[in-house]
Amino acid sequence: MTIAERLASIRARAAAAARSAEREPRDVAIVAVSKAIPAVAIDEALSAGHRLFGENRVQEAQDKYPALRARFPDLNLHLIGTLQTNKAEAAIGIFDLIETVDRPKLAGALAAAMAKRQRRLPVYVQVNIGEETQKSGVPPAETEAFVARCRGEFGLEVRGLMCIPPAADEPGVYFALLADYARRLGLVELSMGMSADFETAIRLGATHVRIGTAIFGPRDDAAAA
Ligand SMILES: *Cc1c(COP(=O)(O)O)cnc(C)c1O
Repeated sequence: MTIAERLASIRARAAAAARSAEREPRDVAIVAVSKAIPAVAIDEALSAGHRLFGENRVQEAQDKYPALRARFPDLNLHLIGTLQTNKAEAAIGIFDLIETVDRPKLAGALAAAMAKRQRRLPVYVQVNIGEETQKSGVPPAETEAFVARCRGEFGLEVRGLMCIPPAADEPGVYFALLADYARRLGLVELSMGMSADFETAIRLGATHVRIGTAIFGPRDDAAAA
């Protein structure tokens, strides 16, 4: 299958999942995850009409996206990987939304970088929904206080929550839990679900699903880690 055909198939599956939950298909956005994928393949997705992409690393986005944006000025790029504080300013320069705000030091660095660059980006707070020791994200119990601090102390526009559930578990309970947090905090955007589980995520309220392999095919994960 071509990238255009895979995109069409993912869109159809996402729309069916939305309808099965009595949601509007247009309320679910597909973030095409292009980490470790060459620009020529991303260009194919753009030429097929897709505009929303996700990258894990600042440097890789800087290498690939300025040229793509020159051809497709309306493309929209989310940062979905862990961000180091010292790359906050570079991230503000290349991304349109940061999905992975998860600690006060980073929130502060992003706020300073946005002020300096005169470019205010919306953000999501990443929640360590499975409370895994090695994983990024705020502990679920601290989500409310952290969102309040991002808004109050740092003036960030927090639009939603993002999570990556534990790889070994059935993801549905974690998606439901994240959706519950978002609802209680009045946050309307919810980034959850990947190639293997996006339909479950959509049924449980995802507004953004992050899909790599199912669109671009297998990648060299050594290069993407
Ligand atoms: C790589 C990645 C994805 C996409 O994973 P696939 O299984 O290829 O769909 C989604 N979210 C994050 C944070 C990722 O790093």
